[in-house]
Order: sequence, then structure tokens, then C-alpha cells
Amino acid sequence: MSKYDLVVIGGGSGGVRAARIAAGHGAKVAICEEYRYGGTCVIRGCVPKKMMVYASHFAEEFHDSASYGWSTTINGFDWSTLIKNKDQEIDRLNGIYIKLLENAGVDILHGTGSLVDANTVAVGNKTLSADKILIATGGTPFMPEIPGIEHAISSNEVFHLDEQPKSAIVVGGGYIAVEFAGIFNGIGTDTSLLYRGKQILRGFDNDIRQHLAQEITKKGIDLQLNNNVESIALTNDKRKRVTFTDGREKVVDCVLFATGRNPATAALALDKAGIALGRKGEIKVDQYSRTNIENIFAVGDVTDRIALTPVATMEGHAFADTFFGNNERLADHDNVPSAVFSQPPIGSVGLSTEEARDRFDNVDTYTSEFRILKHTLTENTERTMMKLIVDADSDKVVGAHMIGPDAAEIMQGIAIAIKAGATKTHFNSTVGIHPSTAEEFCTMRTKD
Ligand code: NDP
Repeated sequence: MSKYDLVVIGGGSGGVRAARIAAGHGAKVAICEEYRYGGTCVIRGCVPKKMMVYASHFAEEFHDSASYGWSTTINGFDWSTLIKNKDQEIDRLNGIYIKLLENAGVDILHGTGSLVDANTVAVGNKTLSADKILIATGGTPFMPEIPGIEHAISSNEVFHLDEQPKSAIVVGGGYIAVEFAGIFNGIGTDTSLLYRGKQILRGFDNDIRQHLAQEITKKGIDLQLNNNVESIALTNDKRKRVTFTDGREKVVDCVLFATGRNPATAALALDKAGIALGRKGEIKVDQYSRTNIENIFAVGDVTDRIALTPVATMEGHAFADTFFGNNERLADHDNVPSAVFSQPPIGSVGLSTEEARDRFDNVDTYTSEFRILKHTLTENTERTMMKLIVDADSDKVVGAHMIGPDAAEIMQGIAIAIKAGATKTHFNSTVGIHPSTAEEFCTMRTKD
């Protein structure tokens, strides 16, 4: 049996980072992955999704370019070209992940890892003895049990559809649903977005949610709120007949369920080591990412803390530094910024107005809503919204939100300011970059 200081189960962002850093600190490390190195984000998540968002947004750019003097002839969109080029790039990134591990001296295994006991991991016919075990197996799409769900796809399959669907229903109101509704709509698929609640993106600032709903509706998405899928049946020509809870029906080429993700623990045989799970089936961990078993740790989506790639890498890195680098560090889950690559995109950090009002006695909000300079020459009616949320007693900016072009790029810098404890006075005294959209964050003076 091979003996290791650390065996990592799962070759996504969190697992690979932890393995590399621990090996760099001198530990003997093995890692196993059952699908492809790179994990959800690189293989069938953030990275290919963003490429598809770029692909889809060109339609609007081509249209707008006419007002800037360009004359373009568009001969349609070729799905297979996009998928082929995207797959090539994903293959390259997959190779880079493997190279990074090789260069760090990590033993790389291909296969499903499971626990034999608290110090032993089985991968295929190999058995590895481990001083410490790190579980970083991520999540899998959740599909509700409704009649005909087998005719729907999840975000795993959407990246490999043979053809562009002419029509699609996207179910859900979270990150993945609004992102794919935007992608389909931009490339010319007749798209409905179906959400069971009152407004999409629960948990985000209410004004931003409302604004996105308006903008995507303007762009042509058929947004149906307070509605859900009751059942799906195949038609004679292999299309999908979807019956909604409001009683109506629609026949489409593709039904995509983006209804959340569950921690991926099924294959791990966690009971062999007695690892405790939480209510959603997530592996429960403490601030050091340690499970209830002394030498077994978990990072990333499988722990259901904040399901974002950079959070998983932060947790994996902190774990490796703490336990193999003699440098005790905790992952910091405060003020984690995120973006939704809807069209227009959203960037967000800190508290929403609603959360801030729950937490502080006196909250000031500043909102700006306008058409960006680029759109003023065009017929594009898209409007941008920016918000700052301030704890009036301390003057601290406790939340910043934006919906509009480049929101993710802009919000990264704002997140650093908020992480550093910036006050509204700091924002006011920062000189804007002109002409830019981002400068608005420095010029908002009038309270809502
Ligand atoms: P989310 O948890 O964000 O959203 C799930 C959505 O599905 C919610 O709107 C939820 O409704 C709805 N839903 C849940 N169950 C059902 C059901 N039975 N029937 C109908 N609707 C249902 O999950 P996603 O799948 O969008 O994404 C998973 C995670 O991946 C995200 O939380 C995010 O952390 C991460 N991610 C991040 C991205 C980014 O950073 N840009 C991009 C993509 C994913 P309700 O609100 O009522 O619960």
C-alpha cells in the first residue's frame, strides 16, 4: 500500500490547489479525480459558460456597431464552431491542471476515490494510506422528481448539445438559470425563463433583481415568474411538451433545469469513517475545513459554504498552508464578491439593502441608473444601475452592487476597497476615471 501525507479526493479548483501547495511545502501527496482534472469550473462551469456568454453577446455588438458607422453582414451563428473551439480550450486547460500537479510532484490518479477507513482511500484497485485526507468532490446538479424529468438536461449536458436548440425553457432563478437564459437568447434561441418565486436571483439586492428582470425581458426573454414545470412529455418528433403549473403548455427543443446543486458525496463511503453531514448532505467542517474526524478535511462546494471557485481555492490553499506549511491561516468568507454573467451582468459585494437594514439601525443607500456612454449613439436601450449601501453610523460602505457592462471587472476593485473597510468619505474623495462607467461609484452624492 502506498503511504502519503495527504490524499486529495477530487481534482477541481479546491483539491488541485491544496494538493499543489501541500506538495510545495514538502508533503507526499496523491490526488484522484473520476472525470477530468479542472473540475466543474474549468470543465463544465464558469470557464466554458463565460465563453458562451461572449459568443452570445456578439449579436448585440454587431447590431450596435451600425450606429458607429460599421456595415456588417451577419450570416447566422454556428453552434458547432463554438462548441469545437470551446472544447479545444477546455482540453488545453485540463492539460495545464495536470501539468501543474505533475510539476509539483503530486501523484495523479484517475478514478473514483472512496474511504476504506479514516486513514485509507481506495481508487479503483489501488489502496492509499493517508495521514490526512482532503475531500474536494464539489457538487452535482439537482433535478426535481417530476414526471418526464429524464427529457430535461442539466448544466452538465448543456455544454455538449449536438445542435443549438431553436427553442428552450430554462427552469430556475439562480446564477446558472439567468446566465443560460441570456446565452440562449443572445444566439437566437426562443427562450423562456421559468422561476417558481416572485423574482429571480433570491438573495441579491431587490433593485438589482428587478432591474435584471426588466432588462432581460426587453432583450426578448419570456420571463415567467410564479410558475414551474409540472411535467414533460416527448412529442412524436422528439421535442418536449412542457406542462406548467399554471396549466399552460409549450413545446420546445430543450428544457434546461438549473435548480441548484447538491454536495457530491454519494461515492465517498463517508460512513466508513463516520463523517458527519449537514441538512443538505454537505460535509460539515469547522473554520479550518476540518470534519468531525480529526485527520479528514473538506473544501469547496461539497461543504456548501459559498459555492464559488475562488472560495474553494482559498479554502484549499489555507488548509495546505496551515497543515503542511507551518503557517496557520483561516479562509475568510466575509465580503466575498461575485458576478452573475447574465446579460447585462451583475457584480456584487457585501450586503444587499435588505440585509443591511436588518443588521444596522441607520442605512443610507445611493443609487444611480443611466444609459452608458457607449449606448448613447445606438438604439440600445439597456440601462445600467449602481448602488452603494452605507452604514450611516460608521460611514462604512457595507455593500456595492452593479448591473451593467463590465460589472464583474468593476466590482473586483470595489471589493478590495470594501474589504479594506472603505467609508463613503473615501469613495467621495477618490477621483473618478473619466469617461468611464465605474467613476459613478465615486460621484454618487444624493441619498435615495
Ligand atoms: P442556485 O442555488 O443559485 O439557484 C437555484 C434556483 O433553482 C433557485 O432559483 C431556486 O429557487 C430554484 N429551484 C430549486 N429547486 C427547485 C425546484 N424543485 N423547482 C423549481 N425551481 C427550483 O443554483 P444554480 O444551480 O443556479 O447554481 C449553483 C451554484 O453555483 C450557485 O449557488 C453559485 O454559487 C454557483 N455558480 C456561480 C456562478 C457565478 O459565480 N457566476 C455561475 C454559476 C453557478 P428558490 O430561489 O425559490 O430557492
